[in-house]
Amino acid sequence: MEHVKKEMVGMVTVISLGLGIQSTALYYMASMNEMPKATVAIFSDTGRESRATYDYLNYLQNWQQQNKGIKIAVCTEKNLYHDLLYSGQGSRFASIPAFTKNENGKVGMLKRQCTGDYKIKSVDNYIRDEIYGLPKGARRPVTNVCIGITLDEAERMSIPRERWKVNVYPFLGMKVDSYGNVERIPWTVPMDRAAVIKWYHQKGLPVPPKSSCVFCPYQSDHTWAMRKAQAPEDFADAVSVDEAIRNSTRQGVHNPVYLHRSCIPLSEVQFDQSQKVEWGECSGTCHT
Ligand code: SF4
Repeated sequence: MEHVKKEMVGMVTVISLGLGIQSTALYYMASMNEMPKATVAIFSDTGRESRATYDYLNYLQNWQQQNKGIKIAVCTEKNLYHDLLYSGQGSRFASIPAFTKNENGKVGMLKRQCTGDYKIKSVDNYIRDEIYGLPKGARRPVTNVCIGITLDEAERMSIPRERWKVNVYPFLGMKVDSYGNVERIPWTVPMDRAAVIKWYHQKGLPVPPKSSCVFCPYQSDHTWAMRKAQAPEDFADAVSVDEAIRNSTRQGVHNPVYLHRSCIPLSEVQFDQSQKVEWGECSGTCHT
């Protein structure tokens, strides 16, 4: 540990806080000196996470105050939920991995730009504006960004596009820079998701709910069904987005667009509860 603290002296380290199980564990661990201290944990609020996630954020902010935890920054500058609801009325274009069917009945998925545009960029802008106070376009000093990817999803590890960024994966024991150089980090104990959940129990901390936008098209049928049954307000807001994006011709998509893979309006889908696999992955930023 001492070695790492020396290694990180002079370099800003932030935690990309998604408010899921893994990244929230990083937050606690950094606050409890179980890994090197970070400067700040940054949560990009895309506008409509589940009520349970917002409740957890309140809990975490109280915990931070009572335990002198590291600072939590909540970025609200961009609102994906709003942009999707008003996409037909001139709001900025936001591409989520929604589904559409062509004339031959083939289902395709739209390009996912939301993670980069609404989550990664918000964190990057916070680093530029609030940590370094740099003007737009100025290059940031080399900065560690800790990401909560566990061993069971190691394939989500990615090379940062930005020259100044080093992606640090404490649960994988690895860090990678923009040139693709991968280095072991000696101060971590690699963990899978189950081990992280066990860590919460050992510390007596509540395990966060799964985080994602309530309207995320990657959701499995099982998750949609649970949301509909247990969080009807969240589900109703997802239905509103589903209806708002149906006609996306202004965005260049000429066939109707849906949140559910069946290309049936979300409010009418009969969910198959045995279908538990998500339809895609979010390059390590969403859902952690
Ligand atoms: S949770 Fe889904 S909809 Fe939200 S930003 Fe991530 S990929 Fe996009």
